[in-house]
Amino acid sequence: MPSDSALSIVWIYPDLLSTYGDQGNVLVLEQRARRRGIETETIHVRSADPVPETGDIYLIGGGEDRPQILAAERLRRDGGLHRAIARGAALLAVCAGYQIMGSTFGGEEGQPVGGIGLLDISSSRGPARAVGELVAEVDAALGLPTLTGFENHMGVTHLGPGVRPLSKTVKGVGNGDGFEGCYAGHVVGTYLHGPALARNPALADLLLSWRAGQLTSLDDSPYEALRQERLSTVLQP
Ligand code: GLN
Repeated sequence: MPSDSALSIVWIYPDLLSTYGDQGNVLVLEQRARRRGIETETIHVRSADPVPETGDIYLIGGGEDRPQILAAERLRRDGGLHRAIARGAALLAVCAGYQIMGSTFGGEEGQPVGGIGLLDISSSRGPARAVGELVAEVDAALGLPTLTGFENHMGVTHLGPGVRPLSKTVKGVGNGDGFEGCYAGHVVGTYLHGPALARNPALADLLLSWRAGQLTSLDDSPYEALRQERLSTVLQP
């Protein structure tokens, strides 16, 4: 169980869901907290284990269809993530993890599979696999710079009135309707791998600030130079 003082980061089901280096999201949160003198404690919750309710920031990654279905079943049965979010915890859910947070998603044959209903979204199989670089402009209400990442998914995601799109797609497919990801309260869902928080440190800081309050600024110039290089390469006509 997390101690009272440290910021607790909970990495859900690394044995089922963690493609394209999604675990890097955990490392980025740890590192950006520690660089500011915020102590962290990370809990890796394997799928046979209960999800603790008292964590601060929860992360779940992407994956193949079968482990995605297993993860949804186990999370629903467990209930710990629902209770944590009800207590105000933050969550970053990536790709398969994002789809799981909705009411339904497409299984191996495209059949509808029940999600866990934490976000007002539903996903299904799209017309073609979306693979490649994704660039998106974030909802102005969040005040974040352009998002960049890598996507690889069959699913498309429909947003209900209970969530807002995280961003507008500039390049790539994202949700499949011109938007990418969504958010509601302290829950963020996205198709971005990369890992997403390494490629978008401002998104990491948004999650941290939701639980740790106002953050001191960091010298991100080396990362920012890389980001700009990647953005200009990807957006080249
Ligand atoms: N299995 C899901 C899909 O193809 C998610 C894929 C992923 O997480 N990369 O849509």
